[in-house]
Amino acid sequence: MSDSISLSADDQIYTTLNCMNCGETLMGRRDKKFCDDHCRSLYHNVTNAAQYNLIRKTHSLLRRNRRLLLQAIGVFRDQNVIPIYWLMQRGFSFQHCTQRIEQLDDTHIIVCYDIAYQKQGTDVVQIFFWSADSRAA
Ligand SMILES: [Zn+2]
Repeated sequence: MSDSISLSADDQIYTTLNCMNCGETLMGRRDKKFCDDHCRSLYHNVTNAAQYNLIRKTHSLLRRNRRLLLQAIGVFRDQNVIPIYWLMQRGFSFQHCTQRIEQLDDTHIIVCYDIAYQKQGTDVVQIFFWSADSRAA
């Protein structure tokens, strides 16, 4: 984007910028960003769509994580812990959670909405239901 200043015949200062949507040269007010309302709304629609896609993808990953944690509770109901590979094989995303609670012993409780898990050693996690009132066991 260029930002050059030129003097007109009557010595008024004009700013030359480019439209943030189409790149056309803009003449006039220094704070002008678009050719017109059409370019302004096109630009914002594209920007909003990109942000919406990011939010939608993140929600989708969180929903899948919650579903897998719920399934794991059912599948491994007779066991105290669940193998991490079981979650990994099904596409669980360990990067996505709704809350991460650090414990005094440097371990973490990872929360996904109303279900939480905590690593127990290197290969297994313990999964349990979580609410705002929940406290570490
Ligand atoms: Zn434009």
